[in-house]
Amino acid sequence: MDLSVVIPCFNEERGLKELRDELNAVLPALVGRYEVVLVDDGSTDGTLEEARRLSSLDPRYRYLSLSRNFGKEGAMLAGIREATGDRVLIMDADLQHPAWLIADMLKLLDSGHDQVVARRDRHGEPRVRALLSKLYYIGVNKLADVQLEDGVGDFRVLSRRAVDAMLAMPESNRFSKGLFAWVGFRTATVPYRNVTRKYDRSCFSLGKLVNYGIDGVVSFNSKPLRAAVYLGSLVTLLAFVYAVYVIVCALAGFPGVPGYATLMVGITGFGGMQLLLLGVVGEYVGRIYLESKKRPPYFIKESGGSVMPPAREGS
Ligand code: UDP
Ligand code: MG
Repeated sequence: MDLSVVIPCFNEERGLKELRDELNAVLPALVGRYEVVLVDDGSTDGTLEEARRLSSLDPRYRYLSLSRNFGKEGAMLAGIREATGDRVLIMDADLQHPAWLIADMLKLLDSGHDQVVARRDRHGEPRVRALLSKLYYIGVNKLADVQLEDGVGDFRVLSRRAVDAMLAMPESNRFSKGLFAWVGFRTATVPYRNVTRKYDRSCFSLGKLVNYGIDGVVSFNSKPLRAAVYLGSLVTLLAFVYAVYVIVCALAGFPGVPGYATLMVGITGFGGMQLLLLGVVGEYVGRIYLESKKRPPYFIKESGGSVMPPAREGS
């Protein structure tokens, strides 16, 4: 198998056929044998039926259906595990990842790269979101061990050894954007103009994006924990200096000032700081808890399509 295309789908029934047409228009000219693995991530619309239908019509298509909505990370992992190709392409089902870009991506991959990732600009996005993303990436790159690029997402093609590296990482709580960067290998980037979503809205609400953002920071190291220690030490030191100052003032007989403001500032300041630091610690403890349960990141409810190709050698 020359290429596997992995497509996580959550409520994407409306776009799938169009996506297939787009893929059919470009892939046959680019690669010899290819397969498309549709991963239905517990959709509540007709995505599964559509996946079944496409798979019955075209032997190059097959599908997996997860037992519920596990999130894009789980769906991607399921698809990548299932992929048998020498190269694996991951793309969204919502037509925001233009299929015509695949030609350039494969060309770059074949010229000696192990990962080729498409980078979109923020064309057509609300200004606020674009700005927040920018700030986020500046922050993440300061804090985390891996370097993430703005606009770089999950539209990428990997060589077999990069895929195997991804699969070798056992964590079930995955932040793929960071994992892709973490595995290393020679990576190239292909820029493209952002395409706005055609059907429905993004599956990622602001809340989900914020959670995803926190994952990005804390999945990769314990620097925030370290920062919390420094911050805590600094505040304690300042409090100590202030206490000395108050005692000296009292001993020197300066008239006491009603210290309501100071007290309030102190209490709220320290309260906030403690909550913040506890939260940081909690983030890591929570993650340890989740990982320690060693739960599988998804369950497959149904799979189908063309006869499953035999497992790859050595796997
Ligand atoms: N997706 C998924 N599970 C989810 C949410 C999203 O498999 O719980 C899929 C979705 O069907 C799409 C891709 O992930 O193919 C990206 O989702 P979306 O377009 O909503 O994200 P955005 O483009 O806003 O990053
Ligand atoms: Mg999208």
